[in-house]
Amino acid sequence: MPERFEVACVVVGMLQGNCYLVRLADSGEGLVIDPGDQADVIAREIKGFKLRPEAILLTHGHIDHANAAAELRDRLKARVVCHKLDAPLVRARDEEDDLFGMTHRPCPVDQEVSDGDVLAVGGAEVAVLHTPGHTRGSVCYVLGGILFSGDTLFQGSIGRTDLPGGSERQMRSTLMDRIAKLDDRVVVFPGHGPRTTIGEEKQYNPFLQAQW
Ligand SMILES: [Zn+2]
Ligand SMILES: [Zn+2]
Repeated sequence: MPERFEVACVVVGMLQGNCYLVRLADSGEGLVIDPGDQADVIAREIKGFKLRPEAILLTHGHIDHANAAAELRDRLKARVVCHKLDAPLVRARDEEDDLFGMTHRPCPVDQEVSDGDVLAVGGAEVAVLHTPGHTRGSVCYVLGGILFSGDTLFQGSIGRTDLPGGSERQMRSTLMDRIAKLDDRVVVFPGHGPRTTIGEEKQYNPFLQAQW
């Protein structure tokens, strides 16, 4: 039986990324997903939420999801987890990021994951679903009935496929072959914007329609 858990969302940075805090109700252990910016703000929320993070999970390597990872990794002594194909983006050298106009803060990746991996976090299991299209190494993390979708799926929309490493063809097969096959009741916590469900997205999201 999966443990009960609670989720908090902190919206950070210029690009308004959703950083999620996941806390297992019984132990207080848990994880941080996509700390994109403002490490101080996230650290304060972690304290208020009485969370002891074991791991920092990145849905992909873009800086609006990963830019506070290095600082939080040091402060929390938590391991950083990312798909192997996006790990080089996270580790990349300190420099101005042309795409986002922010300074990229490199971060070590302690654990590279692949599709189908299951991470043990304080007694709970988090499954890795490789969902390329927005970037080569984009993943969704599945915990209980929740999907942390990063920039793969938003309410009513999807992430861009025109950035380096993006692919419309891969995105299409990610959406049709993977996302659309999930149970309608799965709750989606996206990388930007409000939460939704797979059922609602199958009904209203134009990118989950067969003719797209
Ligand atoms: Zn992105
Ligand atoms: Zn993003």
